[in-house]
Amino acid sequence: MTVQQIRLFGEPVLRSVAEPVTAFDRELRSLVKDLQATMRAGTGRAGIAAPQIGVPLRVLAFDFEGKSGHLVNPRLELAERKIVADEACLSAPGQWWPLERSYAVTARGRDMFGKPVTVRALGTLARVLQHEADHLDGVLFIDHLPAEDRKRFLTTSA
Ligand SMILES: [Zn+2]
Repeated sequence: MTVQQIRLFGEPVLRSVAEPVTAFDRELRSLVKDLQATMRAGTGRAGIAAPQIGVPLRVLAFDFEGKSGHLVNPRLELAERKIVADEACLSAPGQWWPLERSYAVTARGRDMFGKPVTVRALGTLARVLQHEADHLDGVLFIDHLPAEDRKRFLTTSA
């Protein structure tokens, strides 16, 4: 297991739609372990998606307040209720923006062995899962910001 370099905003892999995983093999398990190692290599890292380490596959990992795991080919069901909270991204160091997300999610997918997994999450963990699942579609958290904030983001990150 290897701590991988985090890809930063501007790199094309973060804007591409990741491919579904079809082989639950040793390579996939090694990817999951790299994601977990890279996530745990820094403080305050609650989640990571494979495109963030340059791998265009639908895999994410999370670790927040004792609830940790990974999801392969996740599908999210979002609750109606939304809340606003500050959000950040490993791929945009130092940027925090208030963002509206669903308060609760049910995420269904598979684990690295191909076994079906369901993760139910509230609050911050629900936010993390939405943020990481977005990465699999090439969507970045700033895409959800009002136009005015996005403009400020683009200015400050340049
Ligand atoms: Zn992110």
